[in-house]
Amino acid sequence: MSHELPHDLDPATLAVRAGIERSQFMEHSEALYLTSSFVFDSAAQAAARFSGAEEGNVYARFTNPTVTMMQDRLAALEGSEGCIATSSGMSAVLSMCMALLQAGDHIVASRGLFGSTQQLFTNILSRFGLETTFVDATDLAAYQAAVTPRTKLFYIETPSNPLTQLVDIRAVADIAHAAGALLAVDNCFCSPALQQPLKLGADLVIHSATKYLDGQGRVLGGAVCGARKLTDEVFKFLRTAGPCISPFNAWVILKGLETLQLRMDAQAANALALATWLEAQPQVARVYYPGLPSHPQHALALSQQRSGGAIVSFEVKGGREEAWTLVDSTRVMSITANLGDTKTTITHPATTTHGRISPEAREASGIRESLLRIAVGLESVEDLKADLARGLSQI
Ligand SMILES: *Cc1c(COP(=O)(O)O)cnc(C)c1O
Repeated sequence: MSHELPHDLDPATLAVRAGIERSQFMEHSEALYLTSSFVFDSAAQAAARFSGAEEGNVYARFTNPTVTMMQDRLAALEGSEGCIATSSGMSAVLSMCMALLQAGDHIVASRGLFGSTQQLFTNILSRFGLETTFVDATDLAAYQAAVTPRTKLFYIETPSNPLTQLVDIRAVADIAHAAGALLAVDNCFCSPALQQPLKLGADLVIHSATKYLDGQGRVLGGAVCGARKLTDEVFKFLRTAGPCISPFNAWVILKGLETLQLRMDAQAANALALATWLEAQPQVARVYYPGLPSHPQHALALSQQRSGGAIVSFEVKGGREEAWTLVDSTRVMSITANLGDTKTTITHPATTTHGRISPEAREASGIRESLLRIAVGLESVEDLKADLARGLSQI
């Protein structure tokens, strides 16, 4: 019963307490309601629920108590009035655009967005009259210059994948608002444990809950957070079009949120230790990690994030052969492109996540054959260093 909690609780408390609605059985742990529909006392109540005159559950495409608990807890952590959960991170992006934009509108997006988001904007939404201009993520003048009278949405991701470029959220929010547009931030890499974009002026936060919010690589999910007048529009789209989250997935994520801060802090501490160590290795040409003083936007990282996060990218001296040698000599890390798990993963972006981009475009965006990305997990950092040292000694 979240409304009975005192105000101004610390996020650590909200993570385990916010959003709880108990049934008549007064279960302590949050219940998983596996039901697609709900029954009514009478024909009159059914009519009142359907018309909206009476609040309450009707059908799980509209609402489900487990999903509501997850939404309320995530809203408490993001500091948002509203939150709507979706079936995946991508359906969160899609639902937000469908709910808040219309044919003829224009989007300004930072370059280097998650690949599927880029595809959605470029190849799918474009067919429905939504045009997107991509700008250099760190060039504030470029955001300003891209504005047209039809610009309705700015869409950014910070830090970016895999080069950990930061976008100044407050500065882009000011540009968006001066243009009469909304700013949406994909907060997947930081999660609310490290960064709260709404407090920096953003209007909407997008989540792939599949990553750190679940945190253990089990389920897909997503969310859109923001002012209720915006999330109400997302809800209207969702209840009609149907990309809603399954109650089971929502329950897994709800329980995942309880350990989010602990995991993020421990994984970020591991990442900082690993990044610092990598920077000192003679076979390593360059390390990309916002928590390092050598990162060109370290000061911005310190001002808008609680830490550098848990994603570390680096270039080995050499090219694809040297990079692959390192990947293939790991024994602990998982070779997979996923991230946000307690298990450390290693990937070679140029031949996996960014493999479909032309070599010229890839090179231009700084994703070289020598680049590797590590999403640092909860293992002992000494074991992770040893896992990389094995490969480094071979190149
Ligand atoms: C994974 C990811 C998404 C998409 O989320 P899904 O849950 O896989 O649909 C969006 N943005 C970022 C930054 C991601 O890493």
